[in-house]
Amino acid sequence: MVISKEDINQVISKYKKKKITICTIASHSSLHVFRGAYDEGFRRCAVVAKGREVPYQRFKSADEYIFVDKFADVLEEETQKKLRDMSAIIVPHGSFVAYVGLDRIESDFRVPIIGNRNILRWEAERERVTKLFEAANIRKPLKINGPDKIDRPCMVKFPGARGGRGYFVTDSPAGFDEKMKLMIGKGWLTPEDRAKAHIEEYVAGDIYCMHYFYSPLTKEVELLGMDRRHEANIDGLVRIPAKDQMEAGLQPTYVVTGNFPIVARESLLDQAFGMGDRLAEVAEKMVAPGLLGAFCIQTMCTDNLEFVAFEISARQDGGTNTFMNGSPYSYLLYGEGMSMGRRYALEIKRAIKEDRLEDIVT
Ligand code: ADP
Repeated sequence: MVISKEDINQVISKYKKKKITICTIASHSSLHVFRGAYDEGFRRCAVVAKGREVPYQRFKSADEYIFVDKFADVLEEETQKKLRDMSAIIVPHGSFVAYVGLDRIESDFRVPIIGNRNILRWEAERERVTKLFEAANIRKPLKINGPDKIDRPCMVKFPGARGGRGYFVTDSPAGFDEKMKLMIGKGWLTPEDRAKAHIEEYVAGDIYCMHYFYSPLTKEVELLGMDRRHEANIDGLVRIPAKDQMEAGLQPTYVVTGNFPIVARESLLDQAFGMGDRLAEVAEKMVAPGLLGAFCIQTMCTDNLEFVAFEISARQDGGTNTFMNGSPYSYLLYGEGMSMGRRYALEIKRAIKEDRLEDIVT
């Protein structure tokens, strides 16, 4: 059965406010969560998978480490009890969702999560993301209804977290069939994938991933940072002159290997705020209590200076790693040193002060 808000309210009502510990899975974008918690004076607990402890120990990330064989073991009753006993609040991020699993986060993990545990599922399902974008009037790539309808450059995607492996670009039904064959030959796709292809217009532009924080305490959406991703092999591939690219016959992949910070031209910021505000507003109605805490909209900016959104993260995105000590945007609001992780800690601090912890966790 799905864990209710009342269940979590009960748990948090028993927490000792002076003992609150900020905790997350040691992976993905946890380093600034730990550092941010430290900066705001909280105790920190890292759930570490054995063999993956090096960065967290070397960066002295936590006051307490819970070692598990695999991250999903955080669900074990004994570990959950330990977390509740230390008055732990979990900061969710991509690895938390991927390794612990949506079903079990919704039904078995009775530890307060800062943010909305029920919206995590939405980012993973294209139809739900589309619903959110449509409700929020955010432009998304035009969907093409089947290979036979391809009449312009298209990006063809397949379900599952493949890091873009098997994705391809084509501009005709024949091109689709040809590339499909190629990918099947490589073992990256199977003939059954054909029916699962998601085809959308290819948006020629520049990637901007925008990092927002929505505070239920102030009811305000803050724009805290922006990043671009480094993706292998596409970013390497485009460094080869076009002629050599043709000869090499390599297929592009979009596996994120890192991120770098970026600022948008100032006249684009109005659009960036508008998208964040509208998405938070519709999410509150569609998946109550909404997009609490960090969320991210991944976009392409076209030469018409328009953002076209192709994905969201309904929790802290990996690109927040680009501002562990603040971004140009977080500087404008907070001065030095405001990472997304620290912003979470600040929210918890404010909620404790206003006696409103129940309003920020699920
Ligand atoms: P995944 O989540 O599987 O990694 P994404 O939807 O993030 O896949 O797409 C991977 C990459 O492909 C993006 O970072 C971007 O570079 C590119 N991309 C995605 N959608 C489009 C599109 N409609 N037009 C152009 N490029 C796109």
